[in-house]
Amino acid sequence: MKIYNTLTKKKEEFVPITPGKVGIYVCGPTVYNFIHIGNARPMIVFDTLRRYFEYKGYEVNFVSNFTDVDDKIIKKANEEGVSCHEISERYIVECKKDMEGMNIKPATHHPKATEEIDGMIEMISSLIDQGYAYEKNGTVYFRTRQCEGYGKLSKKNLDDLSAGIRIAVSDEKDDPMDFVLWKPKKEGEPSWPSPWGDGRPGWHIECSVMSKKYVGETLDIHAGGEDLVFPHHENEIAQSECCNHTTFANYWMHNAFLNIDNKKMSKSAGNFFTVREISEKYSLQVIRFFMLSAHYRSPLNFSDTLVEAAKSSLERILNAVDNIRTMIDHLDGEELTEADKANVKVLTDLVKKYEDAMDDDLNTADAISAVFEIVKLANTTVKDGSKAYAQKLLSTITELCDILGIITEKKEEILDADIEALIEERQAARKAKDFKRADEIRDQLLEQGIVLKDTREGVKWSRA
Ligand code: AMP
Ligand code: ZN
Repeated sequence: MKIYNTLTKKKEEFVPITPGKVGIYVCGPTVYNFIHIGNARPMIVFDTLRRYFEYKGYEVNFVSNFTDVDDKIIKKANEEGVSCHEISERYIVECKKDMEGMNIKPATHHPKATEEIDGMIEMISSLIDQGYAYEKNGTVYFRTRQCEGYGKLSKKNLDDLSAGIRIAVSDEKDDPMDFVLWKPKKEGEPSWPSPWGDGRPGWHIECSVMSKKYVGETLDIHAGGEDLVFPHHENEIAQSECCNHTTFANYWMHNAFLNIDNKKMSKSAGNFFTVREISEKYSLQVIRFFMLSAHYRSPLNFSDTLVEAAKSSLERILNAVDNIRTMIDHLDGEELTEADKANVKVLTDLVKKYEDAMDDDLNTADAISAVFEIVKLANTTVKDGSKAYAQKLLSTITELCDILGIITEKKEEILDADIEALIEERQAARKAKDFKRADEIRDQLLEQGIVLKDTREGVKWSRA
């Protein structure tokens, strides 16, 4: 498999550190709200990468963190008058629900920053001992100029970078490019004891520590959105390589951004959507399929027209699968006929086309085209083939869809009367302020493809 490596700016043949195994670390979300539709892109893309490695027979150790201490979490906690822990735990639960809706497998490990403080203190101490970091008034800074090769991932040069920085008179750093590893406690903020006084970690150190603990000193693949290249990933490299004296990650993969109606998503521009909001309009399976319809390194535009198009495309695949399932019951022949064998040859070539696309830097767009060719083959040949051939087609399409995280299994249809009854129960639960039960019912319905909308005229529902 070839992977485009941000570090070398080239597509390179993937060679694992240990044959048959892959260690992947993906920077996860900061949990201060529901995840937004942009956050969903790296989740879907790198879950597909993991699934493809598994299909190829690799044992995958997939690690993705939750950043659960951060300015935005603190702000939200203060606004609501609750603890940061309450905020982060609430949104981790919600994030996991969205992930399940998008059929994203739980990571092998989902470490949380607040549970790894000891490891961070240990790494920061080691960096100080080795002369790569220094403390000033309770803040520990990383000494960027001490780090050989700083800027190699983002292709930035320290002199150019510092030329663009305005130095505050009060700046206590030895160099404007030095960055924070540990910051002192402020009133109303969570803090932990450390050799430099009570405080909390800077953002970058958590990933260096958690990736080392759960994957190893050298990662096969480190991934995330392209906005993380600088400074986050650059600083992770600096911390890890100066501390461990070995390569931090062999391959760096970055997804391009998701834009809304060709504009950058932002709260102030009013084009900011959470995955939860979108799930009221579209099935999250459609969203997943839409995300994979473009190559992960191309910017992707999110618009109703494009998502509707993805929805019809996905329906074409699911209808074909349904058709084959129905036909299997009416077909005979446990052996392939001569005509079947010729069709199986075409099928094998199309599977190869799919794999070639995925092997070419995870080109899911071309892989989906190969699935469509298989669907076309199925639609024209299954009715005249044997049962064995239909079964072969079905298992092939199902397997290829599964790599993309597309569920081809049809869910039991829930009856209108049952939906109405559950909605009534939810209303009663809300009235009784039993919001937990009300949410449970909403999630249960969502799982069955029923989307609820609270309107002024009451609760409306639709099938996604
Ligand atoms: P954050 O919670 O901001 O740290 O983001 C979590 C992940 O989502 C990171 O890998 C980001 O690069 C990624 N991300 C954030 N916004 C977008 C977007 N609009 N498109 C694609 N990826 C994004
Ligand atoms: Zn990170």
